[in-house]
Amino acid sequence: MADVSGKPVPVPTRETRPYWEGCRRGELMIQRCAACGQFQFFPRLYCSRCMSERVAWVTSAGRAEVLSFTIVRRPVSPAFAAEVPYVVALVRLDEGPTMMTNIVGCAPERVAIGMPVEVVFERWTEAISIPKFRPQISPIAE
Ligand SMILES: [Zn+2]
Repeated sequence: MADVSGKPVPVPTRETRPYWEGCRRGELMIQRCAACGQFQFFPRLYCSRCMSERVAWVTSAGRAEVLSFTIVRRPVSPAFAAEVPYVVALVRLDEGPTMMTNIVGCAPERVAIGMPVEVVFERWTEAISIPKFRPQISPIAE
């Protein structure tokens, strides 16, 4: 497990519990509206497009592309000092929703807008695993 001392460990709520349980299992859960079909993230009790309360949890394929990113070189707190430099990115899932995340598994300088990435989970505690993204490994290129 990761060293999380001093880090803001997420606390599941009524809205987010299925999401965090999914992360723990290694599945990225997003919501899909049964009324209009829109996928959404972050979790809500209603659809952000049509306001329907008929939102259902579905498993994302976990693939995305980098929309924007920054390289953090100064830790926001001492708890993150061992991790700089690291990448904070906005990614768009293949299903449509965007997520703020970290890009891992490659040098920060290799990250680029449009880069295809896939989800990986970093275990923080027994209950909480954090979704991060790494460059997609293309089966064709191997
Ligand atoms: Zn809807």
